[in-house]
Amino acid sequence: MPATKTVQDYIRTIVDFPHEGIMFRDVTTLFADPRGFRMAIDQMLHPYAGLRIDKVVGLEARGFILGGAIAHQLSVGFVPIRKKGKLPGATISEAYTLEYGEAIVEVHDDAIKAGETVLVVDDLLATGGTAEAGIKLIERLGGKIVSCAFVIDLPDLGGRKRLEAMGMEVHALCA
Ligand code: 5GP
Repeated sequence: MPATKTVQDYIRTIVDFPHEGIMFRDVTTLFADPRGFRMAIDQMLHPYAGLRIDKVVGLEARGFILGGAIAHQLSVGFVPIRKKGKLPGATISEAYTLEYGEAIVEVHDDAIKAGETVLVVDDLLATGGTAEAGIKLIERLGGKIVSCAFVIDLPDLGGRKRLEAMGMEVHALCA
């Protein structure tokens, strides 16, 4: 009998993408597989059984795919955090530092109400800069973050420590 596949088995690594020296974790192969995708969503949800979550926030872009499925499963609303200039309504924004330069993320200023409990979702945690900026946006709107859920945590890049230092709980399915 073949060994049971894990979430990690569905993720492939693309060498030198988007530029030389980067080992890019490609989760499209996980999303494309019916068993893999369901397994990932089920496992990401597992720690939150019985907890009150009012909104799921997904970080652009793969966090939309995961976060949408998780929000549907929880029967709660989904809120996108997007790169600058993509959201049509009134927004608030946060800048964060990238390896080269700066990025800005935004959320609609009415997307989360003060006191709502929020689950933050993305595919991968590296330095934690993207998630930190997203967390700041949610907190500025008065959202209370229950936890941050990722498929992959790259611990050597320090993201988990960074988010935990902000008082966040972090869950990831694999490293
Ligand atoms: P961080 O801000 O934690 O350094 O980077 C995480 C963000 O970059 C996430 O939004 C994630 O989607 C993206 N990212 C960085 N490296 C990778 C990678 O190797 N694979 C995937 N799928 N996303 C990555």
